[in-house]
Amino acid sequence: MSATPPLTSARRPTLRTATSAEIFTRIITHGPVSRVEVGRLTGLSPAKVTKTVGPLIRDGFVTEGEHAESSSPGRPVYPLSVVPRSMLAIGIKVNVDEIVAVAASIGNEVLTSTRRTLARHDPETVVREIVRCVRRLVAKLGDGADRLVGIGVSVSGDIDSASGVVRHSPLLGWANVPLGATVAREVDLPVVVENDVRALARSEQWFGLGVEAESFAVVTIGAGIGCGIYVNGDVVVGAHGVVGEIGHLPLAPPDAECVCGRRGCVEAVASSGAIRDAVRAGHDDPALTLADAVALAHSGDRAAVDAFDRAGTAIGAALAVTANLVDPEVVVIAGEGVMEYDLYERRIREKFTAHAFGAAASCRLVVRRHTFIDWACGAAVAAFREALRPVV
Ligand SMILES: [Zn+2]
Repeated sequence: MSATPPLTSARRPTLRTATSAEIFTRIITHGPVSRVEVGRLTGLSPAKVTKTVGPLIRDGFVTEGEHAESSSPGRPVYPLSVVPRSMLAIGIKVNVDEIVAVAASIGNEVLTSTRRTLARHDPETVVREIVRCVRRLVAKLGDGADRLVGIGVSVSGDIDSASGVVRHSPLLGWANVPLGATVAREVDLPVVVENDVRALARSEQWFGLGVEAESFAVVTIGAGIGCGIYVNGDVVVGAHGVVGEIGHLPLAPPDAECVCGRRGCVEAVASSGAIRDAVRAGHDDPALTLADAVALAHSGDRAAVDAFDRAGTAIGAALAVTANLVDPEVVVIAGEGVMEYDLYERRIREKFTAHAFGAAASCRLVVRRHTFIDWACGAAVAAFREALRPVV
């Protein structure tokens, strides 16, 4: 592969401590926000906030707004906001059949995007297409490309973010693929690899539910079933990085075979592939597509309705387990499967209500129709987070 056009080294704020990074992050997520409010959100003194914010304003990452009314008379308030285009990142969502890539700003704007269809999804092909996407976005950004701080790549499965290795992605059929290092060799920017659902949860943490909610879970339904969990101010990663793999909870009938090689997993009956296969079997039609299965279910076809019912029951059980374990304020149901949510909804709610324990049943279930652009933005947030790590 030819070399990427040289990029000016990415400019990032100098944040020397975790508290400085926390202050800057709160300005990103809550701006325009007063220094007093940043202090309240972080538990830090206004003096510490002022000391951190000064260099960020001087270096063009944070801006002070017009004087706003203060609740305490005589104290002027100049709310702080991030300068949206002071930092850009590329976010890439890898699907089995497609790569979706965005160039996003730290102000949560999508500046430009691109897609590549994948005829195959072996690591070599995927890396080549990721690099093509990066080059295309860099070209589209023009001079703005010198604001890029990094690239986030989100992939389903068991990801070691620290090393950028995809340890196991059943959907892609990958094991121990050093994706981060391989992409980084081709592009002149830092690369971070993140589990796709966790990246989506991080995007919600910064720019969605996390701004108001104390805790939430993002449950995705579609090609896989996953869950990102936000509690105590952060998205949970876990000791081994596999928190939230609810698609592989053994809550489905024990004879159902999963792509992970086990039996009885939620995904074994609830992934879009499992639903399609069940309808194929019911109609003895190996060429039947997921779109056919959806159309049949809408028309009341028994095999198709049963397949979605089984999926909804397994997903509802997984939601109840999530609520009972984590007790989040809100559960967002997302993923491409929610486009046909009406086909699952009754069984999901039935099973959830039957098994959510006590007050956990009062957690709100909200359906959100994220696009793959939103998923790619989650990958960009992962890249921004990496860029905001304190400089030691
Ligand atoms: Zn499984």
